[in-house]
Amino acid sequence: MIDGRTSAPLPINEPVLSYAPGSPERASLEATLRRMEKETAEAPLVIGGEERKGEGTFGQVSPHRHALRIAEVQSAGREQVEDAVKAALDAAAEWAATPLQERAAIFLKMADLISGPWRDRLNASTILGQSKSVQQAEIDAACEFADFLRFNVHFAERIQEEQPFSPEGMWNRMDYRPLEGFVLAISPFNFTAIGGNLPTAPAIMGNVVVWKPSEKQALSAHYTMELFRAAGLPDGVINLVHGDGALAADVCMAQESFAGLHFTGSSTVLKSLWRKAGENLDRYRTFPRIVGESGGKDFILAHPSAEVEPLVTAIVRGAFEYQGQKCSAASRAYIPRSLWPRLKEQLVAEVEQLTMGDVGDLSTFMGAVIDAGAFKRHRDAIEQAREDGLEVLVGGGTDDSEGWFVEPTVLVSDSPWHTTMETELFGPILSVYVYDDANWDETLKLVNSTSPYALTGAVWARDRSVLAQADEVLRQAAGNFYVNDRPTGSVVGQQPFGGARASGTNDKAGSLFNLVRWTSPRAIKETFAPPTDWRYPHMGG
Ligand code: NAD
Repeated sequence: MIDGRTSAPLPINEPVLSYAPGSPERASLEATLRRMEKETAEAPLVIGGEERKGEGTFGQVSPHRHALRIAEVQSAGREQVEDAVKAALDAAAEWAATPLQERAAIFLKMADLISGPWRDRLNASTILGQSKSVQQAEIDAACEFADFLRFNVHFAERIQEEQPFSPEGMWNRMDYRPLEGFVLAISPFNFTAIGGNLPTAPAIMGNVVVWKPSEKQALSAHYTMELFRAAGLPDGVINLVHGDGALAADVCMAQESFAGLHFTGSSTVLKSLWRKAGENLDRYRTFPRIVGESGGKDFILAHPSAEVEPLVTAIVRGAFEYQGQKCSAASRAYIPRSLWPRLKEQLVAEVEQLTMGDVGDLSTFMGAVIDAGAFKRHRDAIEQAREDGLEVLVGGGTDDSEGWFVEPTVLVSDSPWHTTMETELFGPILSVYVYDDANWDETLKLVNSTSPYALTGAVWARDRSVLAQADEVLRQAAGNFYVNDRPTGSVVGQQPFGGARASGTNDKAGSLFNLVRWTSPRAIKETFAPPTDWRYPHMGG
């Protein structure tokens, strides 16, 4: 034990490596990819530090080459989920008694392992399993993941520093206790870093966790769990159960000791979990914390004063990087009629140049969508849009013969209320509505009221008064609001992430606000010379 007020190294964002042809990082990653492509990883459950079998198994394939089976994954049944809860509770007292500086060292070590020897493994499994291009894998599995760990340690320290005033004769202190019980973390397929963050953020604050990653992200989740263990995380602090989310949630959320849910995924699932917590409320020892970040229908709104060239780049990157499968991806755009002819021409020219294919070839810009279900949803949506009379400006093609490929697609809708302008499709499909320049004020209101979500949005204009107006009218329309930028690419510590309305609880992943949810502070007042007379002066005598 160290008796001293220490502070962890100040966090710095992990530099993004370029993977340019001829770079050492490219050669090293390619070697790992070629090796990993040849193997089918065995992905066990990890409960109380033990590798366990489930009640069955399921396979994970590469979305851009669905004949390639990359993982054989153990699927947890009721018994294994119950064991995971028990293992978490068994580890709780010791972990809660471990001082933050000792806990922090483990997570900082994890971050350094990610920067160094684990970088290739995490990136390669994200490329192969989630079909990310190398750039998209690097900013996720390497950089964002390491940033979450380093910044969250820093935020945990800042929370501990927050202490009450102590007037004369007493000492007031805050004890930042973990929640009483365990936290259930359920993560989505689209970010390896979110898979890493959902269990570690509560664990940094001293909580124990049952983690259920997405079935579609099982391979990178498997390596993430191995990383946790390699960094020396004590057994039972984070327990990994792969498989059916509804089953894991049913078992975990029926426990008296269920103390919190850290969820990222679709709004539908978040709502179902919230309901489940409500139904089970009488069972719980404590009111559970629910942190849920969910879907988006993210916008780009251009004013007639916007610069066209950078706007085109923002649309291309914002809508089509990672096949539009970022919760922040631009999926609706509002363009003034005066800019449309020029913008349209450039947009088509750029989109036609996007390369799509096997992301194991590191020169590729886009891979496949995550699975057959997503492929069908996107194909059907494009087909329906055609039937409804929308113009398919570019793209529109689909091909699932080798992988689940959906071309980057731009639809133009005469109606701002068409379903593709309102609903989250979560694929490489952008819907454009062209408005009359004179209707700018109405268009602002339209953007604010079209979709139930409020995650990200970007406004483009050169005119400052217009930017100020948009900032005001769209204040509740996006939790992450961008000015003359694309609505994606938030960085931990720089743009804390999350949205309200149907997009979630907006607890801002990778910020102090998120970590605050994982502590149940105790206020301690100690009086040095307690009074010896119960009478007050106003009583006289
Ligand atoms: P999803 O909701 O289908 O799945 C998320 C997780 O929930 C998975 O682990 C899944 O197995 C589990 N799950 C599914 N059904 C469940 C149920 N009935 N009960 C309990 N768990 C269940 O989401 P996805 O397809 O993995 O991810 C895409 C969604 O996530 C999109 O809506 C996207 O916008 C959202 N997302 C939001 C953010 C954000 O920060 N706001 C970040 C990433 C993704």
